[in-house]
Amino acid sequence: MESPMDKLMSPLSPRKSADKPAAASLAEDPVPVKPVCSLELPTAEERLAAIARFYSDRVFSLSFDAFDISAASGGRPLVAVGIIAFERLGLEEVADRAKYMAWFSAVERAYTDTNAYHNAAHGADVLAGTLTLLSHLDTTLSAPGPAPRGGAGGGGAAGGAVSKVEALALVLAAAAHDVGHPGVGNGFLAATLSPMAVFYNDESINEMMHACRAFQIMLEGGGACNVLGKLSRAEFGQARRIITATILATDMAKHGGLLDEFVAAQAACPDVRLWDDKGRLLLFRITLHLADLMNPVRPWPLASAYGEGVVSEAARQGDAERAAGLVPSAMTDRDAICLPAAQLGFMTRFLKPVLIAFAGVIPDFVIPAAASFGDTEARWAEMLAAGVRLPPGGCYPPFSAGIGSDVALRRARAVEEAVAARDAHWARFG
Ligand SMILES: [Zn+2]
Repeated sequence: MESPMDKLMSPLSPRKSADKPAAASLAEDPVPVKPVCSLELPTAEERLAAIARFYSDRVFSLSFDAFDISAASGGRPLVAVGIIAFERLGLEEVADRAKYMAWFSAVERAYTDTNAYHNAAHGADVLAGTLTLLSHLDTTLSAPGPAPRGGAGGGGAAGGAVSKVEALALVLAAAAHDVGHPGVGNGFLAATLSPMAVFYNDESINEMMHACRAFQIMLEGGGACNVLGKLSRAEFGQARRIITATILATDMAKHGGLLDEFVAAQAACPDVRLWDDKGRLLLFRITLHLADLMNPVRPWPLASAYGEGVVSEAARQGDAERAAGLVPSAMTDRDAICLPAAQLGFMTRFLKPVLIAFAGVIPDFVIPAAASFGDTEARWAEMLAAGVRLPPGGCYPPFSAGIGSDVALRRARAVEEAVAARDAHWARFG
């Protein structure tokens, strides 16, 4: 069976002949003569397809610019990268194009565009990163070697190139991995007893919601967004397992456990081609985690912009924490945040060990990524040494009304009411 990655380096398919039937002869289909002033404008879908074609190769590069494709596509970066994924991975075999497009459009709309970081551009960036990692993984997994025998994780044998179902599941998981993000972290949601925290019992609150929304959107619209509708029952089960497990693996609180599991699996069996189903799912879980972490290995103008987005969103959370009567941490207090230190800490604690763990699995990715990591690290260190604390411009947009603020305001009102009740109680004792 042809690997979905076989098409990675081939150009996008030209417009389907069904769009414009080929002429049997010139006499039957003469070239229409248009009036001189006639102007046939492309449809929105044709414009997006053209943009996708333009960015098709760049998506697989470390220098992919999600802000650029967002601007070019009129704020539809996720759909544009989704089209590229669909065409380059040959996903038409496992997904209906119209439903795939409808699902991607709905997911993109469900991202919170007022977030400085967790918005659709971040979704597109992580999807592009996933495609890059997937292409390298596919090369590793499909290389000739010993027959799969279930070397890690126990259970049935897997092995072989990335299948179409696996590729589709990872693409959907990457696209939806932060859908509906409220712009505040799990700690804030739990501390303010938000409805989401109550619903998910404080466990991976945001990630649970993202995975849930990915499937809710499939069920909405009377089947129009049912992107997994073409799969058999067994394939659907496999895709659902991959989507939920990989999205839940993006919870930063799970980082240490996930990394330990990956390192231990490699120690038990260094050849990932021999890993069984459980080991393969582990590989996909940490792949999406790496795609979610890896923006510091993009070129400096992009890496620094993502870093600014992270601290800007964190500062807004700090505002919400104050409004809720909580004490912001050093990472969210806009008077205490140090952008270079925050980024250096993030790179050292999270990104570096995951890159190292992948070195033996996809060396052709890790080697250039490590060089870019060093460049970004040196620039942040230089800024730190120069005493720079904030992004150029100095201040972040203030926390504004949006998702999360209602939680904060309700919490603030509850605090005010509690204080008033306490004062009233003590007033009775004069
Ligand atoms: Zn993310």
